[in-house]
Amino acid sequence: MQNTDLSGIGENIVDEILDTVETPIALLDGDGVILRFNHACEALTEYSEAEAVGQKVWDFLIVDEEIEVVRQVFAQTCLDDLPTHYTNYWKTKSGRRRLLRWSNKTIRNQTGDVVIVLASALDVTDLKSIEHDLVESQAFLRSIVDACPVAIITADDDGRILTFSRQAELTFQRKETDVIGKNIHMLMPEPDRSSHDDYMGHYLRTGEERIIDRARTVKALRSNGENFPAILHVSEFTDGRRIFVGFIEDISEKEETERRLADTQFQLQHAGRVGAMGEIATSIAHELNQPLTAAASLAGAVSLTLKKAKCERCDEAIALLDDVVGEIRRASQIIFQMREFVRKRKTAMSLHGVNKIVEDAAALAIIGADAEGIEVKWDLSPEVGELSLDRVQIQQVVTNLIRNAIDAMHSSPRKVLTISTKKTSGGASVSIADTGPGLNDELKDKLFEPFVSDKDDGMGVGLSISKSIIDAHQGEISAANLDSGGCVFTFKLPAGAHGETGDHS
Ligand code: ADP
Repeated sequence: MQNTDLSGIGENIVDEILDTVETPIALLDGDGVILRFNHACEALTEYSEAEAVGQKVWDFLIVDEEIEVVRQVFAQTCLDDLPTHYTNYWKTKSGRRRLLRWSNKTIRNQTGDVVIVLASALDVTDLKSIEHDLVESQAFLRSIVDACPVAIITADDDGRILTFSRQAELTFQRKETDVIGKNIHMLMPEPDRSSHDDYMGHYLRTGEERIIDRARTVKALRSNGENFPAILHVSEFTDGRRIFVGFIEDISEKEETERRLADTQFQLQHAGRVGAMGEIATSIAHELNQPLTAAASLAGAVSLTLKKAKCERCDEAIALLDDVVGEIRRASQIIFQMREFVRKRKTAMSLHGVNKIVEDAAALAIIGADAEGIEVKWDLSPEVGELSLDRVQIQQVVTNLIRNAIDAMHSSPRKVLTISTKKTSGGASVSIADTGPGLNDELKDKLFEPFVSDKDDGMGVGLSISKSIIDAHQGEISAANLDSGGCVFTFKLPAGAHGETGDHS
């Protein structure tokens, strides 16, 4: 049998315990003077017990800003006789700060005076800093999520929203506080909204992945009821529970831009075909009119001669000649009508931002320029503003000029296309400059005439159509070689370009 008789060990046992435990423990008298300072206190403060005993705690251990509060807590402990808990800093001999969570208890003598205040501490400095680091890293992560231009939403496996990034707030026009805890299907229009819970259930039961880790285009729902196209990518991770992260990119603007570009392209192609047809018809009318008029006059003269000759079967020939004149007149009439038809092409004038229409047209014209190694420089003046003009026709001019510039630079060592706009006293000017070989000397003076081209596959009507359009806008178009090589085409539009004439003949 073991001997458990502790008699003989005496008071030393208390000292032994105090110096064995790793908890800092100090015994103070009712005035705060240190009576006992255990080894854990020495290790914590770097003061030896000999240095500490006899001093009041607030005279050397408490940080300045907390002395007053600590004294009050100490007084209260002595008064109420209740254990007190308090967290405050102690400064060590070398000046470090340690955050300590205290439990204090008074011990009184038989007459009721406080003899000892037993103060034991838990060093929470490291805990606090871990807590602080955690809060900081959470805040850091949240700022990354909030800085992301794609909406990020997390949800649990019940479909309940857990977090909603700043971009999600903007995209869906909802506040995070209004959606947290709600079912994610609130962000979807029908039919997805009704089928989403079943879909999730199916996935959780079977693990069949239909959208996890692959992007797809979906319809999403803003708070005002507006549906918008979005690219959705869903990932999943486990954090004790299953969490789904949705990345949602609103592509409505992108789709709108693509639609507008396709529209512009269609209109430009159409206008280009009509313009080329008009240009050809006008030229044919011009070229044929003279010989037809001459042929009619000649036939008339022959008819007159025959009338005078009064020969056998002359009447028969005269009748035939009258038919010839009639047919020539009919041909002239057809040509006249064709010309009139072309003349009637009206310009559809309305107010447009010049920079915007130049940008839209250029976006189409420079497709593929990258692959040709062409560098595009923009110099659009914000002062240009809006002008009354026919959008499609002006875009046709810009496209023609840019395509010509790109063609011209085909074999140039340096390929820079500069697109600029400027406000002028009377309106605006648009310039397209290139670093090609410059204007062909032989063609320089008749560039804007129809059927002038030095290209194997050129029709030579682009510049003449452009001139007709700019004329119809009461503007001016010109071309010049640049000292640095290449050339620049510039057209100017007046502020009050007129509307309805549009005579492209
Ligand atoms: P096409 O492009 O079918 O030849 P255009 O009327 O658009 O018809 O152009 C007429 C001619 O003007 C071109 O063939 C070319 O000789 C000349 N030209 C137009 N733009 C440029 C340019 N940027 N640099 C050099 N020459 C040009």
